[in-house]
Amino acid sequence: MVTGYDEIGKNIADLKASPNINDYKSEVASWSWENIWNELDTPNGLINQAHECIDRHADGDRAQKLAMIWNSSNGIVEEYTFADLKKETNIVANAFRKAGINKGDRVFFLSDRIPELYFGVFGTLKLGAIAAPLFSAFGPEPIKERVQRADGKVIVTTPKLLAKVNEIRSELPSLESVIVIDTRDDEPIADEDLAWSELCEGMSENFTIESTGAEDWSIMHFTSGTTGLPKGAAHVHNTVVSHYATGKYVLDFQEDDIYWCTADPGWVTGTSYGMFAPWSNGVTQVIDEGGFGANRWYEIIQKFNVTVWYTAPTAIRLLMKAGAERARRYDLSTLRYVMSVGEPLNPEGVVWGLEAFDLPIHDNWWQTETGAIMIANYPILPIRPGSMGKPFPGVYPAIIDDEGTEIEEPMVEGQLAVRPGWPSMFRTYWNDQERYDSRFKNGWYLTGDKAKKDADGYFWFVGRDDDVINTAGHLVSPFEVESALIEHQAVAEAGVIGKPDDLAMEVVKAFITLNENFDESPELLRDINNHCRTRLGPAVAPRDIEVIEILPKTRSGKIMRRLLKARELGLPEGDTSTLEDD
Ligand code: AMP
Repeated sequence: MVTGYDEIGKNIADLKASPNINDYKSEVASWSWENIWNELDTPNGLINQAHECIDRHADGDRAQKLAMIWNSSNGIVEEYTFADLKKETNIVANAFRKAGINKGDRVFFLSDRIPELYFGVFGTLKLGAIAAPLFSAFGPEPIKERVQRADGKVIVTTPKLLAKVNEIRSELPSLESVIVIDTRDDEPIADEDLAWSELCEGMSENFTIESTGAEDWSIMHFTSGTTGLPKGAAHVHNTVVSHYATGKYVLDFQEDDIYWCTADPGWVTGTSYGMFAPWSNGVTQVIDEGGFGANRWYEIIQKFNVTVWYTAPTAIRLLMKAGAERARRYDLSTLRYVMSVGEPLNPEGVVWGLEAFDLPIHDNWWQTETGAIMIANYPILPIRPGSMGKPFPGVYPAIIDDEGTEIEEPMVEGQLAVRPGWPSMFRTYWNDQERYDSRFKNGWYLTGDKAKKDADGYFWFVGRDDDVINTAGHLVSPFEVESALIEHQAVAEAGVIGKPDDLAMEVVKAFITLNENFDESPELLRDINNHCRTRLGPAVAPRDIEVIEILPKTRSGKIMRRLLKARELGLPEGDTSTLEDD
């Protein structure tokens, strides 16, 4: 075995539920996206993510089934059936229409994981407008860049987060209004803002969903590139076809499941698998407002009888640190299936699942642009610890060389590419078609990742093919961090890299040169650090800042991050022929 870990074999009789895929090979051979489409409710060829996830269940046998169990950060629990969700999202859709939101408008969300965030996103989709959720821990700068990029018309936020919006409001010419969710917090809001409670008051519980077709815009998530500002990967309503299919066959949803996805909707996993996949399958899900804590998390699984759990490698590494015996103190016997995504899952992590939960952890791979899972470990296939698994049926990933030709030979490293055409493929980078087009070559979508494929068709992640940093599963653009750094009066130039880290996989490390008249001191570094945390938010700001004399640059003036990284890690510097002479 490549990783030194034995394959974890599977036997149907050992699984706690009969899996939705019994025979992977025949599922792949007979796959038809049209059949999946026909399992959804698409009257006259129209499709709307809110209808698939909420209304069709509320209008059918699942009306009184629990859709959302919300666990607040201080332990308050609220429960909503599919009928409740239909009512709440209809009220919001009517309220948003009154606020002037129309089909195609970009509506940004900056909110913690509270029920209103979920009502708001689906209310937006019912209107045919585009929902763009942001990570609530972002500082004003990343918020500004994203709203500017997509000419956002409205920001929906909470009283607690409003200050960040106020800081950048004057730089957002497209912004027409800010809606403040005032239902859980009685802080006063400014007159110019729209109060959620007032907007919703007296609104009808009935709403006719705007006619949307498969290619109408639905949701936008921002992702980081090596250069330039964040890119708004825009998706269409057809995406839900992939959400539904991967929910059924990768997450293996069964009617009685209680599902928990730990991702925040500010990132794509938190919408694709924290909203659309479970609800399009009519599954009950737990939504937890709070943050990570080993005890808290085990308590949630125990308290709500979670059966299917989707989390991330950084969280698993933190749980490993707390020890398997910690997990054993809780009754986690309802768990039947555990998955992870966002970064490479160490083989140790896969196997640790057996120790802690009697269940291996199933890794899977996808990204913002793919909209849904592309490569996965399935309940019925043997797991090769360290591998991302095999392609989802109807999806054709491959390893290609620099010319865009498929590499057939096993275990040869190349670029991971996917044959375009799966339903949830992003349709553009908003206002940047050129960059979108640059992601396709020779009939392949280029993922920006490097990988290998073994002789049996399992894919193995190698690394990113660019400088984008993956810290705790969140992609960070070095450019965005460098831009914030050089805003500080002491900083002349900055180069930012991902530094390997045992827990978060990578942490953001910055190298800076100082302007004349500034000398390095702990106070200065602290000040620069504070500046970054305020501008960017703690999830993006550098963990480590080092002052150096000269930043290595190419002759054309581009910072050579690759070289900074090699020097940091004590690795060979590789080809330095383009390095600027000192
Ligand atoms: P995002 O677009 O923010 O969801 O990030 C997607 C990127 O995260 C991928 O292109 C990979 O670089 C990384 N990633 C996601 N899942 C995995 C995985 N299972 N193994 C390794 N890297 C992953």
